[in-house]
Amino acid sequence: MAGRPGYVTLPIISVLAAIGYVYYTAVFLAIPAWLGLATAAGVANVAAYTTLALACVAAYGLVVTRDPGRVPPAFVPDVEDAETPLHEIKRKGGDLRYCQKCSHYKPPRAHHCRVCKRCILKMDHHCIWINNCVGHENYKIFLVFVLYAATASFYSLVL
Ligand SMILES: [Zn+2]
Ligand SMILES: [Zn+2]
Repeated sequence: MAGRPGYVTLPIISVLAAIGYVYYTAVFLAIPAWLGLATAAGVANVAAYTTLALACVAAYGLVVTRDPGRVPPAFVPDVEDAETPLHEIKRKGGDLRYCQKCSHYKPPRAHHCRVCKRCILKMDHHCIWINNCVGHENYKIFLVFVLYAATASFYSLVL
């Protein structure tokens, strides 16, 4: 995709390697040592852990690849809109928030990302671990990923 940083970066590889390592220790070391793989409990734990790990990787993949949100090219801020606080539309000087680099007006809570080289809708932050911005479009799946990752970490701790 044009204007998007690459997917193959050291932090992304590190995250995938870390997930793989945790999965390996849980499924091939911890569960066999504790329950054995021939027992029903062992198989159930391997199945549960595998499902969790896959969900984690799937969510991570979506966070990395999903576009965090572009500003529509024809966007013009609605100055009459009473719902939006004025400082979100205008700068301190009183002129409209405008991105010089992208040559368009910025919607409320949109910010320019120097790494992505464009404005991101409802930008939260640029995360090097996904080499992508966390913004309007991938915020929810980002939270889901954090939830899965936390659950899997806790699970492996218990194991
Ligand atoms: Zn911009
Ligand atoms: Zn970014």
